[in-house]
Amino acid sequence: MIEVAQLTKHYGRRVAVDGLSFTVHPGRVTGFLGPNGAGKSTTMRLLLELDRPTSGSALIDGRPYGRLVEPLRHVGALLDAKSAHPGRSAYDHLLGLAASNRIGRRRVQEVIGLVGLESVARKRVRGFSLGMSQRLGLAAALLGDPPVLILDEPVNGLDPEGVKWMRDLLIRLAREGRTVFLSSHLMNEMAVTAEHLIIIGQGRLLADLSTADFVARH
Ligand code: ADP
Ligand code: ADP
Repeated sequence: MIEVAQLTKHYGRRVAVDGLSFTVHPGRVTGFLGPNGAGKSTTMRLLLELDRPTSGSALIDGRPYGRLVEPLRHVGALLDAKSAHPGRSAYDHLLGLAASNRIGRRRVQEVIGLVGLESVARKRVRGFSLGMSQRLGLAAALLGDPPVLILDEPVNGLDPEGVKWMRDLLIRLAREGRTVFLSSHLMNEMAVTAEHLIIIGQGRLLADLSTADFVARH
């Protein structure tokens, strides 16, 4: 579960997040929807303690990220798909992450299979398309088999087949009881992927409702 309460972040005079409060429950995909610049990435960065809030709180399963017993195994995050070292292979990138988190090689093979990167796992990341990088980022997020997933625009750059694949995988991961929180600026995509929607604009909460309710009203 993710609990955000009165979360606010100022960058100088710019208000990126403005008194946001919402809860994300496990067991279903929750879409974090809003136009570019709405404050989605900032909120996710605050959740992961990559930045400090001006005020308010952001908790994951009752604790700030840094107070979780094993943060990297508790929360799988995909923030910037292009974060892998371009000169390394996908396999080596994942192996490095696994080793520093006491995760075995078998799990590396498993996540490569889960995201469908078997055929390119030994190739350098430099040549990867954005869609392949998104798959690799998701593989990294899944390494520790975490109960909570925080994914910033994971569908960006995927082709239509990739989008459908990602949607099915995220729904399956949520059905297993995980908390799956993903951002997007694409309403149509979120309407078919997420069961619940948290919609923001200019850092403020606009709506917090089931997708079925949203569709019935629009
Ligand atoms: P760091 O040097 O610590 O990595 P950043 O890369 O986050 O810092 O930011 C570098 C500069 O760019 C800062 O002045 C910051 O305010 C600005 N900046 C970073 N991201 C954004 C953004 N999304 N919109 C506007 N300005 C930004
Ligand atoms: P979204 O993810 O919804 O596109 P962001 O959280 O990236 O939105 O940005 C929200 C607002 O905060 C934007 O106006 C952006 O320019 C600003 N912003 C984000 N990060 C920084 C930063 N490091 N420095 C200054 N402004 C930032």
